[in-house]
Amino acid sequence: MTQGGSDAGPSRSSTAHDESVRLLLIGPPGSGKGTQGKRLAQHYGVEHISAGDLLRHEVETKSDIGRRASDYMEQGELVPDGLVYDLVMPKVLAAGKANGYVLDGFPRSVGQAEECRPVLDKDDVAVRLAVHLDAIPDDLMPRLLDRARSEGRFDDTPEVIRARLDVFNDEVEPLLDFYRDRGLLVLVDATGAPDHVWAQLQVAVDGRQPRTDLRSG
Ligand code: ADP
Repeated sequence: MTQGGSDAGPSRSSTAHDESVRLLLIGPPGSGKGTQGKRLAQHYGVEHISAGDLLRHEVETKSDIGRRASDYMEQGELVPDGLVYDLVMPKVLAAGKANGYVLDGFPRSVGQAEECRPVLDKDDVAVRLAVHLDAIPDDLMPRLLDRARSEGRFDDTPEVIRARLDVFNDEVEPLLDFYRDRGLLVLVDATGAPDHVWAQLQVAVDGRQPRTDLRSG
């Protein structure tokens, strides 16, 4: 559902790097980052780059990257940084140099954030705002099991969901600190209905982007 037509299209058309929307969504599996990421990207006229979607495509097409990534994904573990980096970074750089991006699931660890920061900074296309989608842990498993019934993702079994939630919990605090330390982190309550979360996201993003007094991270 759109809100008064606000979802109709890009609200900014600038391609200047210092004004473009460059967002990272950080949230646990089941927090809605895929849904909200697509909506944000459409709304701001930028590219939605989902590391998980890109990896699943590689697995489905049985590419070299897909073959090397699939075991990790089937266990709910993180795919090795080098594989993800080679797959995702060219897309992030290209989108950054074009209109901007909404990143969903990359960087996913502080190691990944540290590795890509200087490369993105060099082209002046680093993340300008990291949004922490804050969910209630007990809500996530039922939501994901529900989604498993309708979508049937290969990594949506109860055991693998548990592993993905554990991996997220292990990685998230240092990742949040990385962006918090740079003044780039905002928190959005992800517990409500999708339209409610969307409304809050827009407030958070519009309130913080674009601003020239924020340092890129
Ligand atoms: P979810 O957030 O629900 O776990 P994603 O689609 O974001 O779903 O990720 C699915 C899987 O893809 C992860 O469990 C992991 O194996 C892999 N993956 C996604 N993003 C990354 C990343 N940045 N680094 C390493 N592995 C990743």
